[in-house]
Amino acid sequence: ALQAGIVGLPNVGKSTLFNAVSNSAKAQASNYRFCTIEPNVGQVDVPDYRMEKLAELVKPERIVPTSIEFVDIAGLVKGASKGEGLGNKFLANIREVDAIVHVIRCFEDENILREEGAINPVSDKEIIDTELQLKDLESVEKKIARTEKMAKTGGDPKAKVEFEVLKRCQAHLEQGKNIRELDLSKEEKTATADLFLLTEKPVLYVANVDEASLHSGNKFSKALEEAVKAEKAQVIVMNNTIEAQISEMEDPADKELFLGEYGLKEPGLNRLIRSAYQLLDLITYFTAGVQEVRAWTIHTGWKAPQAASVIHTDFEKGFIKAEVIAYEDFVKYGSESAARDNGRLRIEGKEYVVADGDVMHFRFNV
Ligand code: GDP
Repeated sequence: ALQAGIVGLPNVGKSTLFNAVSNSAKAQASNYRFCTIEPNVGQVDVPDYRMEKLAELVKPERIVPTSIEFVDIAGLVKGASKGEGLGNKFLANIREVDAIVHVIRCFEDENILREEGAINPVSDKEIIDTELQLKDLESVEKKIARTEKMAKTGGDPKAKVEFEVLKRCQAHLEQGKNIRELDLSKEEKTATADLFLLTEKPVLYVANVDEASLHSGNKFSKALEEAVKAEKAQVIVMNNTIEAQISEMEDPADKELFLGEYGLKEPGLNRLIRSAYQLLDLITYFTAGVQEVRAWTIHTGWKAPQAASVIHTDFEKGFIKAEVIAYEDFVKYGSESAARDNGRLRIEGKEYVVADGDVMHFRFNV
């Protein structure tokens, strides 16, 4: 499964958020095939109302949602890139995740220590960014040193392009900017692909606000939103303490009541999970049979054979065709056969780009 790493300064509410994630992972474990993976990794279902709707129509024996993983990357502090506070270890953990969830403290509480003084979400974000940028600068400069000679003497035009891209990255990082904001073409990106740069990973922010600011945010979360506008990053306003409490409730009725007391329609965690899924550029297709209704995760833009491979690798090799019903059509007509009778079942070939929500049935040779 794809992984999102939870990062942030100390005492901003990371562990509290991670507890919410792993509690809900545990709650799911009794229903589904999931288990705890590692102490700092929690796997959670991606909430999807469409899957529930399909299950109502098909009445399968079981429902299998798709999932993503959150990794708790605690311990990032100022100076991490210089090895402070086990810095290198934490930075190495970030290198392995696919996306970053950056938790920012937007609540005041004098009992909870804050080394940096008054609450300041923008400077908090910058402290973490700086550490990641310094680490990236190190990686980029090492590669520059390795490739410089080849780019300048050799007749390899590719090496030259690569070198120029690396120099652009270097200059960008030196200005205190993140690589994800640098406009690189797909081709240019190959120059840094082997470096797994930290500031190139997609990011979203969790503004951890006090209870009173749950719905409309506060001056801190607003300052953060303003500061990340240029990055086009999403800011999720939530209260991690409340999330941790919700996740501990086993009885759905209790949960409902508790959410109601705060005027919430659903846990903030659900919003976070869905946003992380989008951030990872993932979409979902469904299979809907009497045995199971199941959600499958693929990347945006995948064609039918590749999409089939997530069910079984043999499906890709032996792919013949796919029968596809759009989710809306399936729901409108109420069943596969009714959709077929109304001409809404399409036969698609190898070049078909799967759409979010497609209900698929693959035909293949074994
Ligand atoms: P971490 O160091 O980032 O992992 O932070 P923790 O999750 O351990 O939280 C640090 C402290 O802040 C704990 O005592 C939490 O109970 C508290 N805390 C977390 N979120 C909130 C919040 O939204 N409001 C308040 N008042 N305290 C919080």
